[in-house]
Amino acid sequence: MTVLCPQPADTHDAMCWSMVERLGLTERDAQLLLAPYREVLVSLPVRLSDGTVRSFRGYRVQHNGARGPFKGGLRFHPGLELSEARSLARLMTWKAALIDVPFGGAKGGVDCPADLPPADLQAIARAYVARVERLIGPTRDIPAPDLGTNSVVMGWMMDEYAKFHGPTPAIITGKPVELGGLPARESATGRGLAHLVTRAAADVSLPLDGARVAIQGFGNVGSWAGIELHARGARIVAVSDESGAITRSDGIDPAGLLAHLRGAPLSTYGPAEALDPADLVAVDCDILIPAALGGMIGAQDAERARCRIVAEGANAPCTPAADDVFRRNDVTVLPDILANAGGLYASYLEWVQNLRHQAWRGGEVDSLLAETLNRAYDDVAKHADRTGDSLRVAAWEVAIRRVLAAVDARGAGA
Ligand code: NAD
Repeated sequence: MTVLCPQPADTHDAMCWSMVERLGLTERDAQLLLAPYREVLVSLPVRLSDGTVRSFRGYRVQHNGARGPFKGGLRFHPGLELSEARSLARLMTWKAALIDVPFGGAKGGVDCPADLPPADLQAIARAYVARVERLIGPTRDIPAPDLGTNSVVMGWMMDEYAKFHGPTPAIITGKPVELGGLPARESATGRGLAHLVTRAAADVSLPLDGARVAIQGFGNVGSWAGIELHARGARIVAVSDESGAITRSDGIDPAGLLAHLRGAPLSTYGPAEALDPADLVAVDCDILIPAALGGMIGAQDAERARCRIVAEGANAPCTPAADDVFRRNDVTVLPDILANAGGLYASYLEWVQNLRHQAWRGGEVDSLLAETLNRAYDDVAKHADRTGDSLRVAAWEVAIRRVLAAVDARGAGA
């Protein structure tokens, strides 16, 4: 079986440079695009449950705050580097501008093992907050979950922040519902992605009913996207996770698979056949959803792909070379900053709910999410129609112009 490894390309640096050229930006504007406002590196000495003391590296990158407080996830992942957090922080700036929520972009996390016991995870999460508590805040920088963290970790972090600043639910999003979290936050990225896939499918005259979907990475984003697309009539024909991949041309029930994964690995899911994970991209399908890690779809994968739509659930899953291949082969790519923005919008609603001390009523969240994603999709699709650009270039251009307009309106570098 082939083991898939993310490729180490910094896709965003390349994209940023091409946008600088394309938009004819001044030196100052180019600096704003590329240089973060603040980067912080902290060391976290933590006593682990086995009695040893180990030091972990933590990061927080705040990219651009012209449109509002910084906002972005905290990733607990082995090998996390500052450069990765920097690229992802930039991406958050564009994403927030694209869906027009009043945030700037940030990202951070800790370089730590993936399989830590809960007590150690909690100790690291608390140590991280203790190091950065003066740099974050409900009107400064609002963290959220990302790879390796979840609502439970956000709850611990909110509690740690309260030790310094008093109870402040709006300091963090993606919290447990009992602490002011939004019930729809967990599903929002995947469901939002399914909504945008529905829009893109209509635009390329692909009926969603019976459309075949392959999902790379069946975690939070991939599983919810699968569940929602299945509910809209699509057929999930292949799924992978870090343990392997499976396929079934008659369709895989995503909710059934999710239940199976609670106690067993993907490869033992009875109704489907095993598949080499490297071949997931080449499965005969209409829609490919990379929802695992960044840099996993390279040019060779793109050449083998047989889909009509790629919907980027993960951040930066396609390398620039893969993007070129998809464009040449007339495959529609729904870019990450649009495709997975549903989670950021749900986080925005959670933050608003916490600031105004009043929960959203049933139905309000779903309709606001659909309205916002529709508006962002329309903005991008219209721009792409006008310029003949890909949806990715159009999305970046719309977003960057909004950020630069905010910088100019403030009358100073933000
Ligand atoms: P997750 O940890 O819940 O799921 C990740 C999935 O990818 C898991 O199923 C894992 O087994 C799988 N995976 C890991 N390595 C793989 C490999 N080599 N091949 C195939 N599958 C592999 O994470 P998530 O929250 O679903 O996030 C997935 C991606 O989406 C990340 O890039 C994240 O930054 C991005 N994202 C997430 C959200 C969110 O709200 N969760 C929002 C925006 C972007």
